[in-house]
Amino acid sequence: MRGGRVAIVGGSVAGCAAALAAHRGGAEGITVYERAAGQLADRGVGLAMHNDRYGELEAAGYMDAGTPWIQLGRRCWYVRDGSAPLGRLAGVLPFPFRTYNWGPLWRELRGRVPESVDFRPGTAIERLQLTGDAVELSTSDGRADRFDFVIGADGYRSVVRTAACPEVRPRYAGYLAWRGAFPAERLPDPGLWPVEDCVYAVFPGGHAVIYRIPDGRGGQRVNWVLYTAPPPDHGLPLDSPTSLPPGTLSDALRGVAIEVADTQLPPYWGQLMHLTAPEDTFIQPMYDFTAPRYAAGRLALAGDAATVARPHTGGGAVKALQDATALQTALASAASWPEALASYDAVRSPVGRSMVDLGRRLGLGLVQETPDWRTMDQPGLEQWWQQADGSGAFGGRRLT
Ligand SMILES: Cc1cc2nc3c(=O)[nH]c(=O)nc-3n(C[C@H](O)[C@H](O)[C@H](O)COP(=O)(O)OP(=O)(O)OC[C@H]3O[C@@H](n4cnc5c(N)ncnc54)[C@H](O)[C@@H]3O)c2cc1C
Repeated sequence: MRGGRVAIVGGSVAGCAAALAAHRGGAEGITVYERAAGQLADRGVGLAMHNDRYGELEAAGYMDAGTPWIQLGRRCWYVRDGSAPLGRLAGVLPFPFRTYNWGPLWRELRGRVPESVDFRPGTAIERLQLTGDAVELSTSDGRADRFDFVIGADGYRSVVRTAACPEVRPRYAGYLAWRGAFPAERLPDPGLWPVEDCVYAVFPGGHAVIYRIPDGRGGQRVNWVLYTAPPPDHGLPLDSPTSLPPGTLSDALRGVAIEVADTQLPPYWGQLMHLTAPEDTFIQPMYDFTAPRYAAGRLALAGDAATVARPHTGGGAVKALQDATALQTALASAASWPEALASYDAVRSPVGRSMVDLGRRLGLGLVQETPDWRTMDQPGLEQWWQQADGSGAFGGRRLT
């Protein structure tokens, strides 16, 4: 299939990958609009990617070994146990994941976007207007550009999704993620913690996930995420989707995380919050949703614009990249854009839904209705995880 003027709204992970997919699928005039003016690569912390999902994305030509990563192998579950530094090791599960620093990962994807694509940083789409044979986009610099098709890769507050599926509203899950990272050299006694170990430090009502990521300059950073519910008087406007980027976290909300870390986590893991500079700590409220369809008329959705599953699934970036590979396959095998978008929707909608369901199940087990961790042991952990993960989609569904 050839031809078609295509706009992609959003130039992050899903946007760069969708531009590559549209190019490979035969689109001839591709424009990417990205609201952020500067380099996205300067922002972001860590993400983990299942080895098998990485292998599929590498084979599809969306990733390669040039992006720095750290190979993990085990997931160690620790429970606070008096003053024992690491706590009690309740059990160990396999964890065949690679960890990445979001910045270098984005930079590598951005580098894959062909020169022929018109990438416009610092340009937000403010409005979409559907006419009979085109979509008109109004940009923040006062232009009105017309396209045959528009792909919304504009994240969880997507304007394209609002146009395609106005009924969808992200739902607040009732708890927050505090996130941060710091240079690994700050870590005392690093030998206590093998590089291949991902740590789950669990407590009643939440947990912290801790692993090392590359710093993009040959060194390592310690990346952590702490999930739990905020106190009722948190003062955040959580009814509509919101995020608090680094540097905007209030002392009170940082204090909540430190209090939890000091009283609920084993001492070695709890100190990580103290080792992180306030300006490197931020909050991500937990929302999830799934759009009822990934394509409607001349509009398609990819990545977080289409579905947001809670990060417990370990598969947000994978899902965004898989969306692009599916779009490429659909474009390459269909005779027309409508046919391609219908087949893309049929392939990706069920995957998005299943990942959102998995995120909700894991959210229940890991935060909202936690088991009695004091008595958890290796057989109990294996059984509990088997029930929570169910179909084995942790880390993302297999790319078919
Ligand atoms: C700067 C940044 C850093 C991140 N860091 C991490 C991280 O460290 N770890 C992690 O797990 N996840 C991180 N994420 C989220 C992660 O990229 C996504 O959850 C996942 O990869 C899906 O990506 P996405 O491209 O669908 O959505 P997003 O990454 O959220 O990207 C959406 C993009 O659309 C742009 N946009 C939104 N509205 C408009 C508009 N109206 N017009 C034009 N552009 C618009 C945004 O500026 C953004 O770049 C980060 C996202 C961003 C933007």
